[in-house]
Amino acid sequence: MAILLATALLPIHAFATEEDGALKIVFIDVGQGDSTLIILPNGKTLLIDGGERDQDKTVLSALQEHNVSKIDVMVATHPHADHIGGLIGVIDAMDVGQIIDSGQVHTTQTFLDFVETIESNQIPLVSVHEGDSIELDPNIDIRVLNPPATLPDRAYNEEEFNNNSVVIKLTYGEFTAIFPGDIELETESRLSSKDIDVDILVASHHGSRGSNTAQYLEAASPEVIVIYAGADNDYGHPHDESLDRINAAGVQHIFRTDIDGTIVLTTNGSSDYTLETVESGKIVVVPEFEYALLITSISLISLIVLINSGRIWKSSRPV
Ligand SMILES: [Zn+2]
Repeated sequence: MAILLATALLPIHAFATEEDGALKIVFIDVGQGDSTLIILPNGKTLLIDGGERDQDKTVLSALQEHNVSKIDVMVATHPHADHIGGLIGVIDAMDVGQIIDSGQVHTTQTFLDFVETIESNQIPLVSVHEGDSIELDPNIDIRVLNPPATLPDRAYNEEEFNNNSVVIKLTYGEFTAIFPGDIELETESRLSSKDIDVDILVASHHGSRGSNTAQYLEAASPEVIVIYAGADNDYGHPHDESLDRINAAGVQHIFRTDIDGTIVLTTNGSSDYTLETVESGKIVVVPEFEYALLITSISLISLIVLINSGRIWKSSRPV
């Protein structure tokens, strides 16, 4: 029995370590804000957003925990403080290869400090749009879905800053994920006609009711949704209307940073992946059915091997 159990547990460890070509995505709990660390199989790194300004230490400690000493590409999805604030301290403390943004310019002190920090550290800044790709690992496709090639020629308002967020789709073999920043209805509607079918979807705009529309969720049809929201945040994110639409869309698992804390996903590029929460110790292996089938199969094979080797029932016969 001990042998059976040990054999059955083996696949859990077989699922992805950084040594065997695994992709790791760390959804960092930065309170009310977003910050996603992506460690590619070849060791290159991508950091999408950094939470509010006082969250820089949270992001830096997550980077340290995952042995990241350099950010190859930093993405500022849009100029709001809950996305770029924490990046300022990271740029000052860490080697950053390149920064990409949406091309939008804000007037806030946080944005001005962000730009000044980039300039004083002499880091190349490139604005991206739909159709661009980020080439860091030949096995990983990282594509920019938004903003459109030409930014709308209007006076910026907060909704427009959100809608022009850099949206990234990542593909590794059979595994896909989308990181949408704070896009709202207008951009979700535009993206719904594109190829956005994914396994993992980050909820738009912290699960706000103005985003995460039924049409968009149907087009993305994710198995798992990750919501970035601060515990007891002032906005009431995620809103019930969004949660209702997410549940109605048949999403299998919802992870929330306000409840689950930091979430770590690993995959080796197959359709299998694991999500683990650091604080609550919750572990989800997807797809669950196939995983259960795999465990059962291995257990049965082990049993047959044991029977054939004479360690079961034969050994109880009189000799
Ligand atoms: Zn935000």
